[in-house]
Amino acid sequence: MEYSHRYRAYPSEEVAERLEHQLDVHRQLYNHVRWDYENNPEDNKPSEYDQNNKLPDWKQKWSLFADTYSKAAQATVARFHRNLSNLRKKKEKGYAVGRLKRQAPSDYRSVTYNQSGFDLDDKRGQDGYAYVRFSKVGWLKIRYSRPLPEHASIQEATFKKERTGEWFVTFSLKTDDEHLPEKPDVDSLDSSNSVGIDLGILNYIHTSDGTIVNWLDLEDEYERLSRDKRELSRKDYGSHNYEKQRRKVASIKRRIRRKVLDFQHKLTTWLVNEYDAVFVEDLDVVGMLQSDGNARKKQDAAWRQFLTLLEYKGDLYGTHIVQVEAAGTTKECTRCGVETTKPIWVREHSCPACGFEIHRDANAAMNVLQRGFSELGLGWPESTPVETVAATDTEEFSEVSASHVIETGTPCP
Ligand SMILES: [Zn+2]
Repeated sequence: MEYSHRYRAYPSEEVAERLEHQLDVHRQLYNHVRWDYENNPEDNKPSEYDQNNKLPDWKQKWSLFADTYSKAAQATVARFHRNLSNLRKKKEKGYAVGRLKRQAPSDYRSVTYNQSGFDLDDKRGQDGYAYVRFSKVGWLKIRYSRPLPEHASIQEATFKKERTGEWFVTFSLKTDDEHLPEKPDVDSLDSSNSVGIDLGILNYIHTSDGTIVNWLDLEDEYERLSRDKRELSRKDYGSHNYEKQRRKVASIKRRIRRKVLDFQHKLTTWLVNEYDAVFVEDLDVVGMLQSDGNARKKQDAAWRQFLTLLEYKGDLYGTHIVQVEAAGTTKECTRCGVETTKPIWVREHSCPACGFEIHRDANAAMNVLQRGFSELGLGWPESTPVETVAATDTEEFSEVSASHVIETGTPCP
């Protein structure tokens, strides 16, 4: 299984200079790889392999390129060819695409070391910090916010300078599949160790056993973002003040992204620790959300990220994650299966056929649970939560705040 961990980095001034230098050398190498590719006849374009073989010659010819670490130089060649193949795929899909552009310093922000040329020292840092060494650069401090999982090995290490000037280090990790915990036997699943979740419209999730997890409160951040954006629109484009304000906007945007990611890490860790199986609506649910344009795209991206994390945690902790058909989970009565249409503002499910009454989202979450069981080829379990819930007033559904999840969620791997 492959995934990645990203850490904020704090290089000393001296090391930052060397990082900048490497960025620049690799950017020029990238442009050279491109130039070499462009200058070969159409019927004789060099492959990634061909160009890797040219690296020693180039290093001899231009001392600048000799200043790269070999596995990092190869990763830069690989980057060009990856971009090339992405471009080709776009073309096949009918997009009007041009050629790959030369990279200007502002475009080229990261260098990857493949397999070697880097070290992680997690003993040296104190209070949640660690040190990473890149060949040709030296050691830099990172905020070691999440330790690497025990059996993970680092495949690649990348350093990156964001537009705001902040540095980050990302490790691409691989977990040996034989070390992953086994998922519980499907036959052992029942309503006590499985959960269906209803993905609310970005502000909460509702579980089939009656928990509401409120979404992270980001009101302050969003307020600041719109204030900073307004201010940006009043600056003269390209001026020093414009640039300063643009950095402010970029920084608050990233703070929001980081908070959301952090929260989703905790939320997914909590879910996989709590349950043996988590059932969730497939992504089509996003298509049903009643919003459009930009807001919709953001929600889409947030849920995609949530589901990706959930699946990765499922593998890591040995929890079944099953996506189920989303259509009709709100309409269908979870007790008798009769469908009733309800407008979005009706928060109660009140079944005209069997009289079952429950919160709209709890009904949906239980339908998700039910669909998950049938997806796994299991019958509806003996003790259905429907019975338990039906006996309770819907008002008694407990709300779990985001901070509660964060406190009780075990540390992320
Ligand atoms: Zn009913």
